[in-house]
Amino acid sequence: MVSLNRDALNDKVLEGARISSDEALQLYQLPLEELGALANVRRNLAKEKSYGGRGREIVTYIADRNINYTNVCNVYCKFCAFYRTERDEDHYVLSLEQIDQKLDELSAAGGVQILMQGGHHPKLPFTWYLDLLQHIRKKYPHINIHGFSPPEFQHFAETFRMPLREVIAEFKKAGLGSIPGGGGEILVDRVRKKISPLKINSDQWLEVMQVAHELGLKSSATMMFGHVETIEERIEHLQRIRDQQGRSGGFTAFICWTFQPQHTVLKVQQPTGVAEYLRTQALSRIFLDNIDNIQSSWVTQGPEIGQVALKYGANDFGSVMMEENVVSAAGTTFCLDALQIESLIRDAGYEPRRRNNSYELLN
Ligand code: SF4
Repeated sequence: MVSLNRDALNDKVLEGARISSDEALQLYQLPLEELGALANVRRNLAKEKSYGGRGREIVTYIADRNINYTNVCNVYCKFCAFYRTERDEDHYVLSLEQIDQKLDELSAAGGVQILMQGGHHPKLPFTWYLDLLQHIRKKYPHINIHGFSPPEFQHFAETFRMPLREVIAEFKKAGLGSIPGGGGEILVDRVRKKISPLKINSDQWLEVMQVAHELGLKSSATMMFGHVETIEERIEHLQRIRDQQGRSGGFTAFICWTFQPQHTVLKVQQPTGVAEYLRTQALSRIFLDNIDNIQSSWVTQGPEIGQVALKYGANDFGSVMMEENVVSAAGTTFCLDALQIESLIRDAGYEPRRRNNSYELLN
């Protein structure tokens, strides 16, 4: 492929044209502020028709809560400090009463969604999940259940000896509203074998998204980077997400965050810095031209960098986290309430608006 000179490539980005993997690699080398400015243009192009033509001015967020229904997991990912085995004293499976209490608190705070994920528990039966979903759906009809990542679904299909499509369809019937893109990490099998050798491969992750989208469930797409992957592999990950969106069209948003190395088996020489985070997010916005929403990741980067990320392609500030267990187990403990989020968004020059999982404005 003939590579474009810098001006020609910048023009291509400014016009909103699709860029190739080779061009993405070229863009990645640009000075940070230049790359950020290009991503900001693409953010505005992606959002200019949203919200009655006010999408450029608005930054959204959602009021939701994480519920990690169990920490028992037999996948032992090297980057994870959250999992426990059944032999560990502090392993747990939440009871319905405990889950209800969390949902009561969420409802009282005006929340609209739970992000419900667990470890891969080897013994919980199919009916446990269906009962849980039906219970929440009936008692809390105003709360969207955004739950169970692709690795969990492949684990369910294997454990329950059921076709994947049937598991997802039954979960949807029982009340599941959408699927988070957890477990994506880097969708390159060389990387996955190194950081999570027992986890599903890239094709299996994408298969869940294909089936879910076909069944009418929307999902997010994610990337956890800054461990053993190369820049080329990050771009390959983005390519796989873009191709999948081209096939099934159900990704509502993309979120990337950096590996948090405290308390994990996986070690890195140098944790990923702010500049690399912003650079990678900006590139994601430019490359993922068929995904409208990019979330900034203040949970791992901190509120101020989350705010700066709004100038590097992000149009969404993620969620008010009433509870976060997985990343905080690995050392990160940033926490913000709705007022703080709104003030950060306003401070960055945008109008803060609450949204639901479909990115519709709620206030
Ligand atoms: S990241 Fe998820 S699948 Fe991997 S060990 Fe942790 S809980 Fe288990």
